[in-house]
Amino acid sequence: MNAFLLTVGDEILLGQTLDTNSAWLGRELNLLGIRVIRRLTVGDDHNEILASLEEGFRTAGLVIMTGGLGPTKDDITKKAIAAFYGTELVFSEETWQRIQRIFTRLGRTVTEGHRQQCWMPANARLLPNRMGTAPGMWFDDRGRILLSLPGVPYEMQAIMEDAALPELRQLPGVTPIIHQTLLTAGLGESEIAQRLEAFEDALPAHIRLAYLPSPGLVRLRLSAYDGQQDIRKAEVDQQAEAIRALLGHAVFGEGEDTLEAAVGRLLSGQGRTVATAESCTGGYIAHRITGVAGASQWYLGSIIPYHNYLKTSQLGVPAETLFAHGAVSEPVVLDMLHGVLQRLGADVGIAASGVAGPGGGTETKPVGLVWIAVGDMHHPRAIRLQLGKDRQKNIEMTAIHALQHLRLWLLEHRPETSG
Ligand code: AMP
Ligand code: MG
Repeated sequence: MNAFLLTVGDEILLGQTLDTNSAWLGRELNLLGIRVIRRLTVGDDHNEILASLEEGFRTAGLVIMTGGLGPTKDDITKKAIAAFYGTELVFSEETWQRIQRIFTRLGRTVTEGHRQQCWMPANARLLPNRMGTAPGMWFDDRGRILLSLPGVPYEMQAIMEDAALPELRQLPGVTPIIHQTLLTAGLGESEIAQRLEAFEDALPAHIRLAYLPSPGLVRLRLSAYDGQQDIRKAEVDQQAEAIRALLGHAVFGEGEDTLEAAVGRLLSGQGRTVATAESCTGGYIAHRITGVAGASQWYLGSIIPYHNYLKTSQLGVPAETLFAHGAVSEPVVLDMLHGVLQRLGADVGIAASGVAGPGGGTETKPVGLVWIAVGDMHHPRAIRLQLGKDRQKNIEMTAIHALQHLRLWLLEHRPETSG
């Protein structure tokens, strides 16, 4: 089945609103195995909407349109749809009752605009909108389906998720694509490709592997296109296991997981706590860690010794070490790690010090040079990174490397009591 996406709204044509609805719908339809073959945006104009509906059904069996249903505007979209089907608008008492109920509960007064919103094309089947007043509309003209949805993204998404996507999934000829995404850190795209070469050559034609790189991470998405749902699910699971075996500790999770959450699971599984000493990242690692629900179970806190004198006064880094080696050096991050473990009383720690850039580099300490240290008092590990010139990217990459190295350290130094 092919789909045509139509967005209605002057504000989109003017560039005041970005058309995120089409992007969201494109992603969701792809997951269902429905191919989007064209996207179109028109203004709030009767003739334009009418013409684009005609064009849509010339090219696709499914047209999904968003926008033009709000209470404050003319009901241009609904009138155009009624004209398209040669039908009229009828008053939906059900919608009117619902709007009145919602507004009474909120202690607000219903306006004439809301009453206007209740006129629907006679052949519309209404789809409930738990996030707003305008219901979605489903039209089926001898198997050619039109969906009209509000422009407000979260309302559109709620109607799709609650009502439309489950129904689309049931349509004849729709076979949802099965996806499984593995998340990796520490290996580059080409390194992964090398390790997976034989695996990829052996993949059956209906299963595909996509590399989705982002700074510091590569997501590996397996997709299965044909065949019975449960068989494909099992096949994808099996291939994912094979990738895990080939990539080992580089795989830290799947789906929407994060590196910091993976570190958190390891720490709580091992009954350990962590603290951070962050110079060049200025608390960014702490920020990512505290974004994990339940982090208080295993995260103690951070010291941000940005100035050298704080490295000495707060973490006990000897002034002579700073003088002899410079703040961005192996001995200093090791001392920072030692200091934060001792002063915050954590079992393991992360320390980072680097030249984030874009200025401040020297011949021996170029921009992008970062030293990180991870581990405990007995087995500290220092890692040298040579990153790029972009300050924000360097901060982000330092955090990702630090979290990944702590993760590897934890996997290699399990406490004796936990298996
Ligand atoms: P409407 O249903 O046309 O009244 O749109 C309501 C609101 O939804 C508008 O103010 C826009 O900000 C937003 N909106 C409409 N269409 C889109 C779209 N395609 N993508 C993202 N936001 C949209
Ligand atoms: Mg609009």
